[in-house]
Amino acid sequence: MSFEGKIALVTGASRGIGRGIALRLAREGAHVAVNYSPQADTGKYTGAIDEALALLRETGREGVPCPADVSQKSQVDAMVQSVIERFGHIDILVNNAGICPARNLMELTEETWDRTFAINLKSVFLCTRAVARHMIDNKINGRIVSVSSMSSIVGSNYQAHYCPTKAGINLFMKCAAIYLGPHGITCNCVLPGEIDTDLTWECSTVEESDALVARTPVRRRGQPADVANAVAFLCGDESEFINGAMLLVDGGLTSGI
Ligand code: NAD
Repeated sequence: MSFEGKIALVTGASRGIGRGIALRLAREGAHVAVNYSPQADTGKYTGAIDEALALLRETGREGVPCPADVSQKSQVDAMVQSVIERFGHIDILVNNAGICPARNLMELTEETWDRTFAINLKSVFLCTRAVARHMIDNKINGRIVSVSSMSSIVGSNYQAHYCPTKAGINLFMKCAAIYLGPHGITCNCVLPGEIDTDLTWECSTVEESDALVARTPVRRRGQPADVANAVAFLCGDESEFINGAMLLVDGGLTSGI
């Protein structure tokens, strides 16, 4: 098992891609701190964290719930501290939490712009800085992976706020890679394409999503496990020399027009 004895913190891991990443790391031996937002997991998503924890228990590893809004510094710092107190250290951080409220440019409000930047981009800065400080102080050869998007390299009619947050993540992670590399910490991004999660079905219709799948060379929608495979590689020993990379996980969707 690649991650035997490792401690991973995965943000936004009660559902979707984050849950898939948490399960993959746990199946390979990691104990996982499962961050989620109680505000985001209301209505039909109530109980998502309990489901995620039950699935984690089946792996035989420990899954610890960490409710926190990752756009808030005080909540991020308290969350990171609580994980360190619980497990003693953190080896892996996966910045995954994100939102994608679909708005065209003229419908886009300042509030939606600010909220999307705070949850998608500021969170990556807050979590990376807090965890990296702990890794440096404790000489941990850490792995930090951020879940960006194919929308960081191509635009969309309904994502004038979302796309820049993801492009920002790509460059933030390159800057982090330069600073943290000498400390033995690698920083990389994965760029998912069209993945079958709640977020996708909230921000697009079945017809819109099917149209993207039809343009995807491998002719299928991605699953959280597809993204988790790439994240697991970037968190493992074999990716030691990969730093500041942006790995597309989109079935080739953005390879041509
Ligand atoms: P999802 O909506 O299925 O799950 C979102 C998760 O994030 C939940 O666990 C929720 O509790 C958590 N969350 C939301 N706001 C939060 C906050 N403020 N603080 C902490 N946690 C919060 O989303 P998903 O599709 O699994 O997306 C995960 C990541 O992948 C996002 O960053 C998204 O932008 C990115 N992504 C998704 C797709 C896709 O097709 N689904 C494609 C490219 C990139």
